[in-house]
Amino acid sequence: SVDTTPITATLFPGDGIGPEIADSVKQVFRAADVPIEWEEHYVGTEVDPRTQSFLTWESLESVRRNRVGLKGPMATPIGKGHRSLNLTLRKELNLYANVRPCYSLPGYKTRYDNVDLITIRENTEGEYSGLEHQVVRGVVESLKIITRQASLRVAEYAFHYAKAHGRERVSAIHKANIMQKTDGLFLKCCREVAEKYPEIKYEEVVIDNCCMMLVKNPALFDVLVMPNLYGDIISDLCAGLIGGLGLTPSCNIGEGGIALAEAVHGSAPDIAGKVYMGEHDRVKDLWRHLIWSVTCSDEAQVLAAYILCGLILQNLANPTALMLSAVTMLRHLELHGKADRIQNAILNTIAEGKYRTADLGGTSTTTDFTKAIIDHL
Ligand code: NAD
Repeated sequence: SVDTTPITATLFPGDGIGPEIADSVKQVFRAADVPIEWEEHYVGTEVDPRTQSFLTWESLESVRRNRVGLKGPMATPIGKGHRSLNLTLRKELNLYANVRPCYSLPGYKTRYDNVDLITIRENTEGEYSGLEHQVVRGVVESLKIITRQASLRVAEYAFHYAKAHGRERVSAIHKANIMQKTDGLFLKCCREVAEKYPEIKYEEVVIDNCCMMLVKNPALFDVLVMPNLYGDIISDLCAGLIGGLGLTPSCNIGEGGIALAEAVHGSAPDIAGKVYMGEHDRVKDLWRHLIWSVTCSDEAQVLAAYILCGLILQNLANPTALMLSAVTMLRHLELHGKADRIQNAILNTIAEGKYRTADLGGTSTTTDFTKAIIDHL
């Protein structure tokens, strides 16, 4: 086993709840003695001309060098003259497939208890090619690009994944009845690849029908492969089937074996804690700033500040999705022993039901939930 050889991996804590949940991952990895050394990179404060985005060239080089990494959510700053952070990563690192496993969590009751499917999303083109322009005033145009090369590449990955993971069926999701040329080409490529895998059943399902079938009976599906926009929407729909965005992991696969794992969710600005529980110094500074003339004991200051600043002391995020993404990263590195141990600790914590975050109907903070996972290791 290679379980003890130190491996360097890039870590993008990201924005919003990103640093809070990335911190949970680091704590759990430390407690489980995972032989990973993190190379941390934050989103820059200025546009880097070499990437045309707030992501620095050095951070991209770090992933290229390490070939493996974990990414927190990134909120793209709104404005002109730069590229979206996620788009920059996908394009620059050629992250062509986004793999999102979605399965019912034992002990956490939702409408379904039999979800076990994998969505594989083409990640580099389609409606997300970033080619939009105004034709004349009042008329804009957005180009949907589908290429044979990218379609074959993602279809090949889907069938290879199905075979390697003992899956029986691949469903290509499309709207080729309306988008005959673009989705038509995507389907043609899937059919070509399907012929090379006669042991895997292949079917084609129109996207609207797919949505209806998924919410009626998710067990109808196994591995789903689809163009970019459909993948974005369907994978969130699948997250909803098992309890929400706080639970679903994903991994981006790039050319040359790069794997960048990331949670499906965004930066959740509505629950992002601006002050962490336990960061007493920052809370005290805030308090002093507010009523600096009041003199009382340190403990009383902290307590009063916590009460007064209740609205910003949130610590509410569910770190499960990022943690399970980190588990997919460990599996990519063939650290299956560590991956199993952490995954079981997460699932057992949720199944036990004593510590759950608010999105799962509980009252635990991110900190308490993380401690409970460490206790289950
Ligand atoms: P979001 O995923 O951030 O939030 C949607 C809802 O889910 C919110 O109510 C949020 O509180 C909840 N939620 C998400 N993650 C959670 C977690 N771990 N625990 C508990 N609840 C959680 O989507 P949004 O609000 O549409 O987007 C916010 C920002 O994130 C935007 O700037 C968007 O561009 C960005 N974003 C980034 C990524 C990424 O980096 N891959 C993905 C989606 C959105």
